[in-house]
Amino acid sequence: MVTNAIGKRGSNVSPFVVDFEEMVQSDDFLGCLQCGLCGGSCPLGYAMEFTPRKVILHSRAGRTARVLSNASVWMCVSCYTCSTRCPKGIEIAHSLWPALRDKALQDGFQPPAELHKALQNIYTYGNSLGESPKKRLGWAKALDRPLLDLSKTPRPVDVLWIVECYPSYYPRNQIVARLFAKILNLLGIDWGVLGTRERCLGDCTQLCGEEGLFEMLVEDNTMLLKSYEFQTLLVIDPHALLALRQFYPVYGTSFQAQHYTTYLADRLELLKPMLINKLDAKVTYHDNCCAGRVCKCFEPPRKLLQAIPGIEFVEMDRNRETALCCGGGGGGMWLDSYITEHGGHRLSDERIREAAATGANILTVSCPYELSRFEDSIKTTGLETQIKVRDILELLAESMAINERGQ
Ligand code: SF4
Ligand code: SF4
Repeated sequence: MVTNAIGKRGSNVSPFVVDFEEMVQSDDFLGCLQCGLCGGSCPLGYAMEFTPRKVILHSRAGRTARVLSNASVWMCVSCYTCSTRCPKGIEIAHSLWPALRDKALQDGFQPPAELHKALQNIYTYGNSLGESPKKRLGWAKALDRPLLDLSKTPRPVDVLWIVECYPSYYPRNQIVARLFAKILNLLGIDWGVLGTRERCLGDCTQLCGEEGLFEMLVEDNTMLLKSYEFQTLLVIDPHALLALRQFYPVYGTSFQAQHYTTYLADRLELLKPMLINKLDAKVTYHDNCCAGRVCKCFEPPRKLLQAIPGIEFVEMDRNRETALCCGGGGGGMWLDSYITEHGGHRLSDERIREAAATGANILTVSCPYELSRFEDSIKTTGLETQIKVRDILELLAESMAINERGQ
């Protein structure tokens, strides 16, 4: 059973998730105008009996129990649309919802089964896929050059790359991880990875109200990262960026984390002469919520795509701040069946239709979750002949003539 007691050690008072009942009676939450912009802008608001506005309304009136037993508690996918729209600046996505879920767990309500399993896997194995921590470097086996495994050969590096769980273990994302390693090598970057010492950074545990587990991950990861010397902490998973930029500093630890799109866009002059192959593709881009709406990393992915010879870039109607979420955040990666049951459809299906409507033949992404989510949605929506999904790194590598199995 996943409960909030899991992994609880040290401090009993989290600096992040405060008591839900106290939170809704605080000045911030009493300032809620009940305007409904949060629920109105929520991509799943139509299916939630308790939108953020109603959660606040009922809880302030002492009717929290009605909310806790409702399916709405597990329907938020942490897209941050409500947080960015709220006129009172109320932190719904990473305060209200985690505290509500924390309260639900404490009162004995369980998360949906698939999410429950993923959280248990993080606790037991340090990754949501339930893979052995010893296989963390499985993705690197097919690399043509040995990488620097800092767990075995500790030394100062310019770049410490946190590979994160899906690029480490999931075959589709392992391909992208290898391409990124080769791009870093071609750029002459001095980089290393944490090898078997790496474990999940835990953004989804925080957003799902598993505060005890999240605190444990923060404590362990902080100690680990502080034991190495590096200039830049690099991630290809925007959920890792969210954790390092927004959540870890609350615990007093700040690392200079960068998403790969920002890091490569900053080195575009170095990269451009290496983009030798013309791709002849009409391409659109899906802004992921963590790097996009939260961390405002909107231009770097576009700069990279527009630098690739032969690419015609088109925008979807909803882009940047207003981009539609793929539904994979805040535990949503493991909530597809649940959300389809209660909401009638997956956000990734809706988004792939938007991408196809632009006439693009490639939807590009910069998040490991999105590759499999959109590739699955292409099949379920019958769009296989119209559009493909590629990580931006795959297009860069193709233009750089980097083959997945060699250079
Ligand atoms: S958008 Fe903000 S102020 Fe308006 S109902 Fe939602 S939480 Fe309250
Ligand atoms: S974070 Fe997104 S999914 Fe969650 S309540 Fe806000 S708008 Fe809805």
